[in-house]
Amino acid sequence: MATIELKDVRKVYAGGVEAIKGVSLDIEDGEMIVLVGPSGCGKSTLLRMVAGLESISSGEVTIAGKRVNDLEPAERDIAMVFQNYALYPHMTVRQNLAYGLKNRNTSKDEIDRRITEAARALEIEPFLERKPRQLSGGQRQRVAMGRAIVRKPAAFLFDEPLSNLDAKLRVQMRVEIRRLQRSLATTSIYVTHDQMEAMTLADRLVVLNAGRIEQVGTPIELYEKP
Ligand code: ADP
Ligand code: ADP
Repeated sequence: MATIELKDVRKVYAGGVEAIKGVSLDIEDGEMIVLVGPSGCGKSTLLRMVAGLESISSGEVTIAGKRVNDLEPAERDIAMVFQNYALYPHMTVRQNLAYGLKNRNTSKDEIDRRITEAARALEIEPFLERKPRQLSGGQRQRVAMGRAIVRKPAAFLFDEPLSNLDAKLRVQMRVEIRRLQRSLATTSIYVTHDQMEAMTLADRLVVLNAGRIEQVGTPIELYEKP
């Protein structure tokens, strides 16, 4: 678990687009923040800066006190979940789950233990020896979650993970993601443009507009107050 701190973070892309114009936010241990806002407001840019996948023009992002930009990719204790699943097609589900751990020198026993645990939590035990193409969209999304979970990262970053799923699965998966995030209590940032998803998942919602925070509050504070 970890606190994520953003201090006056700015992003100016080469070419001059000011995507993020001074964002400050403290995310508590175990908290689930949902980032919402219109297309182009900077959600993805902000998430990618927290992930260390995009350079920070000015300001600071720290995870558990460590500045994201000072860390090598392998040292970044975060796991991302994408809509495109980001599974390796030539590997089995088990190998996909093990991959990120092997890169981090985790022992064989520990890898097996974590895969068993994650597979049970996500109900993907029957599919461990299959390839991603032999799975449904919902099953693949679970494997993508599994890849994040087995790492036991300090933070989860979700980038519209459910947007490729049909409506019924989206509802089912958002309930499962909420349950898992609560039970693991892993600090999380979740980007979506789906308002129901945002309300269901968020401890606090952050509304971005044109690169700035417009509102921050619990779903009740933002949606249910007169
Ligand atoms: P959102 O995720 O909310 O849709 P983005 O973070 O993708 O917003 O984009 C924020 C702004 O930054 C937009 O104006 C977008 O066009 C611009 N932008 C995003 N990525 C790049 C890039 N690689 N180079 C230049 N401009 C970019
Ligand atoms: P790990 O999965 O152990 O983090 P990788 O080298 O596979 O190590 O990934 C490095 C970074 O790229 C991580 O932030 C990861 O979430 C992200 N990533 C991994 N696979 C993909 C993919 N297929 N597409 C986009 N990003 C990915």
